[in-house]
Amino acid sequence: MKKHIAIIGSGFSALSASCYLAKEGYDVTMFEKNSTVGGRCRQFKKEGFTFDIGPSWYWMPDIFDKFFGDFGKKTSDYYQLDKLSPAYKIFFKDEVITIGDTLEKICDEFERIEPGSSKPLKKFINKAATNYDIAINKVVLKPGISPFELVTPETAMRVDQFFKTISSDVRRNFKNPKLISTLEFPVLFLGAKPSNTPSFYSFMNYADFGLGTWHPKGGMYEIIKAMSALAESLGVKIHTNSPVDKINVEQKNAISVEIHGEEKIFDVVLSGADYHHTETLLDQKHRQYSEDYWENKTFAPSSLLFYVGFDKKLKNIQHHNLFFDTNFETHAEEIYDDPKWPEDPLFYANFPSVTDETMAPDNSETGFFLIPIAPGIEDTDELRAQYFDIIMSRFEKLTKQNVKNNIIFKESFCVKDFIKEYNSYKGNAYGMANTLSQTAFLRPKLKSKKVNNLYFTGQLTVPGPGVPPSLISGKLVSELIKKHHKN
Ligand SMILES: Cc1cc2nc3c(=O)[nH]c(=O)nc-3n(C[C@H](O)[C@H](O)[C@H](O)COP(=O)(O)OP(=O)(O)OC[C@H]3O[C@@H](n4cnc5c(N)ncnc54)[C@H](O)[C@@H]3O)c2cc1C
Repeated sequence: MKKHIAIIGSGFSALSASCYLAKEGYDVTMFEKNSTVGGRCRQFKKEGFTFDIGPSWYWMPDIFDKFFGDFGKKTSDYYQLDKLSPAYKIFFKDEVITIGDTLEKICDEFERIEPGSSKPLKKFINKAATNYDIAINKVVLKPGISPFELVTPETAMRVDQFFKTISSDVRRNFKNPKLISTLEFPVLFLGAKPSNTPSFYSFMNYADFGLGTWHPKGGMYEIIKAMSALAESLGVKIHTNSPVDKINVEQKNAISVEIHGEEKIFDVVLSGADYHHTETLLDQKHRQYSEDYWENKTFAPSSLLFYVGFDKKLKNIQHHNLFFDTNFETHAEEIYDDPKWPEDPLFYANFPSVTDETMAPDNSETGFFLIPIAPGIEDTDELRAQYFDIIMSRFEKLTKQNVKNNIIFKESFCVKDFIKEYNSYKGNAYGMANTLSQTAFLRPKLKSKKVNNLYFTGQLTVPGPGVPPSLISGKLVSELIKKHHKN
C-alpha cells in the first residue's frame, strides 16, 4: 500500500516536495487555501495587463535546471527563458548605474564610477563564485539537523567568512557609496541587513553579476504553471479553496487534517504554509516553538506593493529598476532596528512589459512597485496612498517624465494582505532572514521534534528565503520523509 501524504499549501517548496514525493511512489494530495496555486508567486490579470504578485527576479537558473532535470525535464519544456540585457538599473540621486549582462560590461560601469574598481570587483566576484559552488553543492543540500553539516574542508578554510559581514567585506574593497550599495543589494534577498549577513553569502553577488538576471516569458507564474503541470503528471492531486484548519495528533502522530470541517486521514503531513501558522493548527502541547521564540527572530521585511497599469510606454526605465536615491542605512534601521514606516524609502520598480510584450496591451506598461517595510507595522489605506504619492513623485523626477496622469488603475498589497492571503507571521513577505544565528541547523526544523510524522518546508525553514531555496527546501524535506517513512 502506498503511503498517503497531505501537503499544506502550494508555494514553490510545497510543489517541489510534491514532485519528489510523487516520483518516489507516494500518494500525494495538496491542499491550498487560495483559489489558485503558487503561494506568494501568484498572478494578477486586469484589462490586458499581467502582473506577478510576488517574486520577479529569476536568479540562479542552475537551480531551476537541476529541479526540472531531476524529473528528466528541461525548463524549456515548459517556458522560454530570456537573459535580460541589461540586467537592471539603479537610480541614485545624481547618477544611474546600469548593470549589464556580462561581468565585462559591469566592470566597465564600475570603472566609470570609480576608476580602478574593476580589479577588486573581479577578485570579489571570483571569491563569490567559489562560495557559490561551496554553498550550492556542499552546504545548502543539507537538512539543517546538525552543526557538523556546515563543516566541510571548504567551509573550514573559510570560517572567518562566517564571522565577518558582507558589509565590512564590501567596504574594505570599495569606497564609492554607490558601488557599496550596488554590491550590498543582492544579500537583501536573504532578508537581513548586509551588516548582519555573513560575508560567505557573497555568493549572492555571483548569482547577480556571474549568473545574470533572467525572465520567463509570460512572467514568474510560468514556473508555477510548469511545476504544477509536472506535479499533476506525476500523480499529485491538487485541491484549491481548501484551507487546512486543524492537524489532529494522537500518540505523537499526525493522523488527519481538517478542511471545511471534514477530517481526512493521512500517513504523513507536510506543511509548506508559513511555519508559525502551521504550528497554530496543532494543539498547544504539540507545538515546538513558543510565541517568544518567533518574537525574537529576525524576519525578512514585509512590503507595500502596487500593481499599476499605465496607458503609455514609459521612458528611461528597464525591466528591473532600483531606486536608491535615499539613505540605504536609515531605511534598513526603520525595517530592523526601530520598526516604523520609512521617512524616505528606497523602492524597486518592475516593468516586465519592457522586454516581454505579452505582459501588457500595446503602447502600455505593466508596473509593479515595492517598498520594503518592517513586518507587523500599521497598514491603512491612508498610509498606502501617502506612500504611493511619495514614490510616484520620485519616480517622475528620477526618470524625467510625467506618469501620474497615465495610470489606468492601481491595486495595492501590504501587511494585512500578507496575513489574510498567506497566513504570514506579522505579514512578512519572504520569511525568516538568513543571519548567522538563523542559518542552517539554527533555523526552524524540517521535521517536527514533537510529532513523529509532521514535516515543514519553505522559506521559514532551511535553506531560507527566495524561490531557488524554496525549490531546494522541497527536495530536502522529501528526502527526510523518504528516510523515515519508507513506502
Ligand atoms: C513581494 C515579494 C517579492 C519577492 N521577490 C522575490 C524574487 O524576486 N526572487 C526570489 O527568488 N524570491 C522572491 N520572493 C520570495 C519568494 O517568493 C518566496 O521565498 C517563495 O515564494 C516562498 O515559497 P514557499 O514555498 O515558502 O511558500 P509560500 O509561497 O508562502 O506558499 C505558502 C502557501 O501556503 C498556503 N497556506 C497558508 N496557510 C494554509 C492553510 N492553513 N491551508 C492551506 N494552505 C495554506 C498559502 O496560501 C500559500 O499558498 C519574493 C516574495 C515576495 C512576497
